[in-house]
Amino acid sequence: MGGLYHGKILLHWCDSCHTPVLSDRCACTSRTRAVQVTPPGDARPAFPDDIEFVNRIYEEQFGMSIIPEGQIALLNKVPDNDRMEEIVVGGAIVGAIRYLPAKGYWEALPRPEAALIEKPKRRLIVIDDGAVMSVKDGRSLLAPGLVFCDPSVREGDEVFMMTKSGICAGVVRAKVDADKAGKMERGQVVKTRKNVPSTYVPGKATWDDAVRANADVLAKAEKASGKFIADHIGPYEHLPMSVSYSGGKDSLATLLVVMNTYQKLPILYIDTGLEFPSTEENVRDVQRQYDLACVRIESRDEFWQDFELSGPPARDNRWCCRTTKLEPLRRHIIENYGEDGELVSFIGQRKYESFSRMKNPRVWRNSYVQNQVCLAPIHTWTALHVWLYIFRENAPFNDLYRHGVDRMGCYMCPASDAGVLEKIKSVHPELWQEWEDAVSLWMENNGISKSWFESGEWRTRGDDAA
Ligand SMILES: [Zn+2]
Repeated sequence: MGGLYHGKILLHWCDSCHTPVLSDRCACTSRTRAVQVTPPGDARPAFPDDIEFVNRIYEEQFGMSIIPEGQIALLNKVPDNDRMEEIVVGGAIVGAIRYLPAKGYWEALPRPEAALIEKPKRRLIVIDDGAVMSVKDGRSLLAPGLVFCDPSVREGDEVFMMTKSGICAGVVRAKVDADKAGKMERGQVVKTRKNVPSTYVPGKATWDDAVRANADVLAKAEKASGKFIADHIGPYEHLPMSVSYSGGKDSLATLLVVMNTYQKLPILYIDTGLEFPSTEENVRDVQRQYDLACVRIESRDEFWQDFELSGPPARDNRWCCRTTKLEPLRRHIIENYGEDGELVSFIGQRKYESFSRMKNPRVWRNSYVQNQVCLAPIHTWTALHVWLYIFRENAPFNDLYRHGVDRMGCYMCPASDAGVLEKIKSVHPELWQEWEDAVSLWMENNGISKSWFESGEWRTRGDDAA
């Protein structure tokens, strides 16, 4: 993780409204309780497709669903080798899912609280009442304490440890396969662990309820962002201004807060030619709904010219940002405002996005495009502030969020987690095919074997050198 962690976990839960609240008090006047999600703590709504996806993973592995119908669920991205998400339901962390790139597989990691939602039907063991106390103290479960082991259990699996009366005594890792566990007379069957308990209070609610519960929170966040703009815009107010718009939720919330607290500005959209179709649609929708001018910069040709020379960009060799974004923007400023011209951009950067973003300033000059002055009005917002604000405003957001993709921008971005690229591939197979064809042709021309693309090596080349 490294470095100081500057973000307080803001996520709370109201057990009267059954919604998340980003404060210790709900708009209904109830006190809320903190939800101890893993930092940086940038939880976001689980949309219907996310819920289906998570439930399918749990159904396949444990014969249960983990997100009940009608309840609000959140996903919280946890730092991991690839993609890992905590699942929050009823104000409790009820489990997680984790992508294992080498296996191409999403692993379900339930917490004991999950068994309060639905009883698991697979991958469970039943233990003797006599063993419960010692196991709860974190001592290991020995063979004589085992009453039943589901035949689906394999060594290394996460399994539910249930009592005879059907209460979950913990989630543990199996040390042996089911057939071996049944024959054991001594030794450890599972590896126990201390789980940090979390309070699960079920109850139905909608996202409209969540917006109401956070009315004060949103009003306060909006006002603070307005004050930030008022306090910092002074020296730059004579310059041309726009809101950098990517088609993502953060740039949308930035656009809304700038319109609501400062003034209506044009949006600046850079079309790299690698955007999702829904991003193009969203740019049009937003323009239409708010009657906005759009400064559009296109950089498709530049990308493919450099691709010929350098091959696909990689995680630590992201020449694409300079080629498709920074350089076209620098040229745009010079062409429109002259060599010494400057412009102001409102940008949807937020500190809760990642640990590295925590340290970024809120007003800065782009290090490559020195004549771009950047301001980040929603720097202190979490993803949940952003979403609740978008819901409150009834703003048109990128449809792809409804289909399980939570980051916009270039569809093949090599910096993405493998788990996210797999998702994108399943939602937009035709885009992925285009990319695969382009990279394959380049590989052929450069004598590189096919496995280089399939293994994902194209994304990670040069990592070791960094
Ligand atoms: Zn409430």
